[in-house]
Amino acid sequence: MSNEEITYLVSKKVLEGEITKSEGINQLYSKINMNKGSASIIIGQVYPKLFNGVLFKRTVSVAYFSCFLECIKRDYGNKQLSISLSGLKKHIDYILTTGDSKITLRKIYGKYLELSRIQLTNNQQDEIEQTEIIDLFKEKSKNDLKAELDNLPELETEEVYVNQKKYKRDNKAIALIKLLRNNECQICGKHIKKKDGTKYIEAAHIKAKSEGGNETLENILLLCPNHHKEFDLGDLKILNHSNETIKFTLNKSNYEISLLISE
Ligand SMILES: [Zn+2]
Repeated sequence: MSNEEITYLVSKKVLEGEITKSEGINQLYSKINMNKGSASIIIGQVYPKLFNGVLFKRTVSVAYFSCFLECIKRDYGNKQLSISLSGLKKHIDYILTTGDSKITLRKIYGKYLELSRIQLTNNQQDEIEQTEIIDLFKEKSKNDLKAELDNLPELETEEVYVNQKKYKRDNKAIALIKLLRNNECQICGKHIKKKDGTKYIEAAHIKAKSEGGNETLENILLLCPNHHKEFDLGDLKILNHSNETIKFTLNKSNYEISLLISE
């Protein structure tokens, strides 16, 4: 492990309150022989301010910044990286007023700025969450899955924990519905096979979320991407909708789909 990464890990522990600042300084002194003055500046000022996007005036070598940003991206994701980049931007602007050009530092900033812009869309994030939850519940019986779905907290609760990890409540509901309906399009029975062998399917709200439609067995239709788009964009007339069935015409074709779960 490089000195920079050791410094990152110790600074992180201090910021997260796992060890005290003086313990951190002692660790850097004993592990990589960093002098205590420098350790104090990094642990007490540079790292926490960089992390939180706050201006800091004391500087360290480019290798440290590069390592800190890479590790922040790895450990906390793009959102935190963007915050830290704003701290580095303030630092560079400050350094520039002192006459030091720090071109390398600006290059580092540019590189990580680009990386932080590769954001996943909301849909991609939801798909990742749903896939993870499906994986955790895939061995459960349909009765267990139904019970999980019934026991989801109220709609106002936006986040739920699964295996100590936080997920969006809606993603847990949709993941359970996908399992209960075997990940298949309720119009044509098809799905897209992903390269890892699992099935890709989309969830359409019958009554739109914006109109108060929920993620329930009665209000979610699982559809392949083609049918999902047709359902959203095509000429749709819902003729009858109960807890057991939905009857509609879509672009002049008639459909009657059972909303019950087969055992
Ligand atoms: Zn389909």
